[in-house]
Amino acid sequence: MDTQQEISLLEKEVGSLLFTEAEIKAKVEELGRTITQDFKHIATTEKPLIIVGVLKGVLIFLADLMRELDLPVELYFVDVSSGGNQVGGRRYSELSTRMGEAIQDRHVLFVEDIVDEGLTLSYITRMLWQKNPTSVSVCTLLSKEAKRIMDIDIRYIGFHIDPVYVIGYGLDYKEQFRNLRYISVLKADEE
Ligand code: 5GP
Repeated sequence: MDTQQEISLLEKEVGSLLFTEAEIKAKVEELGRTITQDFKHIATTEKPLIIVGVLKGVLIFLADLMRELDLPVELYFVDVSSGGNQVGGRRYSELSTRMGEAIQDRHVLFVEDIVDEGLTLSYITRMLWQKNPTSVSVCTLLSKEAKRIMDIDIRYIGFHIDPVYVIGYGLDYKEQFRNLRYISVLKADEE
């Protein structure tokens, strides 16, 4: 199968376009500039900014965002696991001992791909606070306020979106579509 055919097969499932590759890039650069500005007198090589992401949806956003940060950073991930605690239909692993130690007395930036009801965010931030960080700030690329059920404080928001199911730029539908360069509505959610 040639590449052209694979791309068109992939795009058959894709609904209306929400954000182009260029729009996402511009937004990630803007977020990167703001975060750099906010932490440039706080993050040092002795005490870097601790970045925490939840796998796998945040992978592409996080990879792009961290390269826009002109700051010393350390990177940690929380994984979805078969054990751990169930939150909104997903199970998250406990924070590793190494990560718990790294967070203590540090400024933490928790990066999310999308915040919907807010359950994941509030669960993970609660876990992070248990490790005694100096601060926890949250950055999400996408925010769907209409379905929010948790009262949460998000310091950095890329785009506000309607409550539709979106795919691309790391976001999946049944584990696929993460490799789209843009963000679209899932076609099945429009029909
Ligand atoms: P929450 O706990 O805020 O309701 O859900 C957050 C998680 O649900 C996200 O990290 C993401 O994994 C998933 N999620 C929520 N909305 C969407 C969406 O529109 N598309 C995709 N691919 N995942 C979503």
